[in-house]
Amino acid sequence: MKVPLLDLKSQYNTIREEILEITHEVYDSQYFILGPKVVALENEIAEYSNAKYAVGVSSGSDALLVSLMAADITEGDLVLTTPYTFFATAGSLSRVGARPVFVDIDPDTYNISPEGINRAIEAMSDHELKKLKAVIPVHLYGQCADMDPILNTAEKYNLIVIEDAAQAIGSEYGGRRAGTMGDLGCFSFFPSKNLGAFGDGGMVTTNSEDLYTKLKVLRAHGSSPKYYHKVIGGNFRLDALQAGIVSVKLKHLDSWTKGRQENAKKYVSLFTGVGLDEIKLPVEKENRHIYNQFVINVSEKRDELRTFLQEAEIGTEIYYPLPLHLQECFAYLNYKKGDFPISEQAAGHTLALPVYPELTDDQQVYVVDKIKEFCS
Ligand SMILES: *Cc1c(COP(=O)(O)O)cnc(C)c1O
Repeated sequence: MKVPLLDLKSQYNTIREEILEITHEVYDSQYFILGPKVVALENEIAEYSNAKYAVGVSSGSDALLVSLMAADITEGDLVLTTPYTFFATAGSLSRVGARPVFVDIDPDTYNISPEGINRAIEAMSDHELKKLKAVIPVHLYGQCADMDPILNTAEKYNLIVIEDAAQAIGSEYGGRRAGTMGDLGCFSFFPSKNLGAFGDGGMVTTNSEDLYTKLKVLRAHGSSPKYYHKVIGGNFRLDALQAGIVSVKLKHLDSWTKGRQENAKKYVSLFTGVGLDEIKLPVEKENRHIYNQFVINVSEKRDELRTFLQEAEIGTEIYYPLPLHLQECFAYLNYKKGDFPISEQAAGHTLALPVYPELTDDQQVYVVDKIKEFCS
């Protein structure tokens, strides 16, 4: 039985007519960059996330970059974040000349540890503290980071909070939606995210009118009015075609999320049924985990299990095999192996299983059976 990690074709087949209609509207209008389709999506995402404002941008990575620019994070500033995330979280920091200060994660949720943040701050010199400007928690795999203590610390030290919600659209923490608890929330419409475009796209949410105005100006080369530049921005624009497609898909997002949550529940009951001690299941700590990924932690032979599943035509992925503090491009930060043991454990032992909404019961039974076969 074939079980791909993600099956975008079967999702497309359920919305094909709606997608063709909206793309044809864009073709007929010949209005491609920003414009009414982008404004419509911005309003829809703001409403969906309970944010005051949303600004459509070119990708999740650019959402992070333009957020840092809007927050005036610059050369020599220090920003706390997790080493166990997609590269863009820390890469965007370096792009503005800031220095990532990594903090290890919680072993249950894989999200940045609030106590770890406090310890990192306590270890800083006065000079470093002066340079410390922001914190970027990542809501990894679709579950919110433990935001209350992070927000408390941020308030105490006057830090800007940028939520990397690229994997977490619609997830909640104490009833609040991802992307609205901090100052800025960054979303990605990369095709494998829960709300994916047909290409690159992203969104920034904020409740601050000031940041909203800055984001809009920075998104178009700092131009305001047109051809007059008080600041230097970039081309971070979202195009109408992607916005139209994402608008169509947003209408289905809650039902897809429900499908993912049900599949996650089913995995838990299947795994519990076979009782595999060597497999640690995801821990749901916050309400409304949206399961962008269903990630197990395999105590031994994770890579062999992955190969075994591949041979059984089951797609899996490792998010992420090398934590950011050990990446070559960050060697100048002088971190070493052993600095963040929980992130390193995760990198060596986690495995994402297929959890997309169209997955069938039979496919899930097959996946768990095969894992059981490998373990025994
Ligand atoms: C996908 C992702 C990004 C980047 O989004 P792109 O749209 O691919 O640029 C940033 N952070 C995290 C955590 C992501 O998963």
